[in-house]
Amino acid sequence: MDQLWFYEKHTRGYGVRWKVKEVLHTEKTRYQELAVIDTFEWGKTLVLDGNVQVTESDEFIYHEMIVHIAMNSHPHPQKVLIIGGGDGGTAREVLKHESVQEVDLVEIDDRVVENSKNYLPTMACAFNDSRLNLHIEDGIKFVRDTSELYDLVIIDSSDPIGPAVQLYSTEFYQDVSRCLQQDGMIAVQSESPIFYQDTFVRVFENLSSVFPLVKVCLAPIMTYTAGPWSFTLGSKKWDPERIAGDKRSIDGLKYYNDDLHKGAFILPQFIKDMLR
Ligand code: SAM
Repeated sequence: MDQLWFYEKHTRGYGVRWKVKEVLHTEKTRYQELAVIDTFEWGKTLVLDGNVQVTESDEFIYHEMIVHIAMNSHPHPQKVLIIGGGDGGTAREVLKHESVQEVDLVEIDDRVVENSKNYLPTMACAFNDSRLNLHIEDGIKFVRDTSELYDLVIIDSSDPIGPAVQLYSTEFYQDVSRCLQQDGMIAVQSESPIFYQDTFVRVFENLSSVFPLVKVCLAPIMTYTAGPWSFTLGSKKWDPERIAGDKRSIDGLKYYNDDLHKGAFILPQFIKDMLR
């Protein structure tokens, strides 16, 4: 296996090669091509339709950022909905908060969940928590039909291709807003502002047409293209930039802390300009 490389193409002119230790699993599911590979640089990695979703080595940055910024700016989030996130990493971070009583996780592809349980147990451990309800169905339909009300909805989706396209639309955000409490929030993984500027700007504009307060924060996630990765938060009341009054930091986090929370919203000028 000395010469086995995985090639992830990002644009017509840019891609990244990863040296593979072992191909652990491949299959074509009902929705996408799924692979789990073990890589020299980043450990076990989940790939969907040729796009890296999570790696064992740097998943903590993505999962801590998509969860703790929103969870810590809401004073008392008890009920959380996750759309996508079938690897379990986002749910694992949400469940670290003592205020959380119930999490609904809606993943369209049961094979992502099953393979994560087999190969990515440090993320899929979340599925053992009795506060988590797993729903295998389309998140778009779920938010359209549900009569539940949530404090926070997290969109931990794959890139806007295949079943995930509508997860970036205004109509979907309107449905999310309807199933949020009056002081509810949404946190969205909004792609790379550099490689996927169109999607990044579209998420900001679409959320801004639905939520009164919309803010963007950034984090470097080494295995997602290159440079900063963005998260966009929409809120009905609480300012995502401010840590709620009596919140205490959760012990044992590796990326997120109070200073980082504040600093993550400082945007370079060229990214600010994209959002004008
Ligand atoms: N952290 C990742 C990233 O930024 O690339 C996302 C990881 S998570 C594995 C993304 C999940 O969203 C996939 O498992 C995919 O099956 C799921 N997904 C895509 N479209 C969906 C939909 N319409 N409803 C529910 N889940 C969906």
